[in-house]
Amino acid sequence: MQRKRVVIVGGGYAGVEALKVLATSESCDVVLIDQHPYHYLQTEAYELIANECSMTRVTIDLVALCMSYGEHVTYIKDTIREIDFQAKHIMGQNSGHAYDYLLVCTGSRTAYNGATEGLREYSHGVKTLLSALTFKQQFEQRLYQRMESEGGWCSEPFNIVIGGGGLSGVEIAAEMAYYIRVFHQDNTLTCDNIHIFLVIPHESVLEGMEPYLITQATKRLLKLGVKILNHSRITSVEEHVLILNQSEKICFDFMIFTGGIVASTITAGMDVPKNKKSQLIVDKYLAVSQYEGVFAAGDIAQLQDKEGKMLPPTAQSAEQSGRSAAVNIVALIEGKVMKPSNMKMRGVMIALGGNYASVSLLGWIRVSGIVGYMIKTVIMRGYRYLLHIQCVKGIEIMDKSKGHCRF
Ligand SMILES: Cc1cc2nc3c(=O)[nH]c(=O)nc-3n(C[C@H](O)[C@H](O)[C@H](O)COP(=O)(O)OP(=O)(O)OC[C@H]3O[C@@H](n4cnc5c(N)ncnc54)[C@H](O)[C@@H]3O)c2cc1C
Repeated sequence: MQRKRVVIVGGGYAGVEALKVLATSESCDVVLIDQHPYHYLQTEAYELIANECSMTRVTIDLVALCMSYGEHVTYIKDTIREIDFQAKHIMGQNSGHAYDYLLVCTGSRTAYNGATEGLREYSHGVKTLLSALTFKQQFEQRLYQRMESEGGWCSEPFNIVIGGGGLSGVEIAAEMAYYIRVFHQDNTLTCDNIHIFLVIPHESVLEGMEPYLITQATKRLLKLGVKILNHSRITSVEEHVLILNQSEKICFDFMIFTGGIVASTITAGMDVPKNKKSQLIVDKYLAVSQYEGVFAAGDIAQLQDKEGKMLPPTAQSAEQSGRSAAVNIVALIEGKVMKPSNMKMRGVMIALGGNYASVSLLGWIRVSGIVGYMIKTVIMRGYRYLLHIQCVKGIEIMDKSKGHCRF
């Protein structure tokens, strides 16, 4: 059988999961294209922002990962601008790339409502590693300047606003509140005038999730001192001033916006069916059915479970869809029958500051506190650890080819 060239665009949760399947198949050569040489573990971004871990803990080296599988797997650093589905050709910022089969996994970006004046300009995002790092560094510098200028005593309030009460907004609010509490307790430079506001348009946080998680998260946020402003719509944002519900004003030092997602910009120029979030409509095999050999997985696609219920954009649905699309690509190449994706949500794990998390798994495990934190940590670290082990193989291959030993 002639080997086929399979190109994966995007090395996030979906792309990396697909890579594991395709790289171990005898029937294809794999090219992974990403604009960054790392897989950013967004699910652990809250820890980075709250200074609980360093940049290396939230990244996986894509070059080493690809190299670990052998010469038939290549990583290319490029930003893809356009795809010509007829010609089976991808146009990147640096070069063009041909494919036999294509898997698009470029994820999503923060949905800044264009009509909300100043939102994009004056708030920070956390969807990219750079934006999370920028926030973290500016936040620390600002806190330092405050302590310096006020002799260690912040008499003026220091306000942090987080817009959006979904999974990421809640995790960031809780982790920052916890960080500030520890900072205040541990530091002789007293600065107890820091406030965190969580601005949500609905009645409660985690709208649409199960009541157990909503209750636990709300209790914990309130205990950590987070001020939840429900039924609050962002009217506009000015430099350091947020206007809510047309008239209420909140002065802030920092604002993070996490309210919703839209598909990555790559879908803009694609002549294929899309939903309101610009996500690609895929069939039950995760194929973009108008074009032969084209698949999409992760946040960029509109994903559904077996019953046709929409799945939220999460790392777990990205991983399942990436794996499923890759299995179907291999089946097509080998002339076998494709399998419906049959994805399902296995549960939700929410970090709620320090060694505390709320977990609901498999429909019957519901636990909060340190046990929840341990379950979440084992699952998250397990994901990272297995990828890290694979990367070490790649680093050894790299070192051998250069004729030296790193360790
Ligand atoms: C703060 C935060 C916390 C979260 N917490 C959780 C959680 O606890 N549990 C959970 O399940 N989910 C969580 N999520 C959601 C989860 O991270 C996403 O659903 C997941 O990352 C989607 O995976 P993906 O592979 O589709 O996209 P991504 O992981 O975003 O990967 C997309 C990749 O495509 C690349 N790319 C994009 N455009 C281009 C281009 N034009 N050319 C080349 N490369 C490109 C990017 O560089 C990136 O590497 C969280 C998200 C955030 C922001």
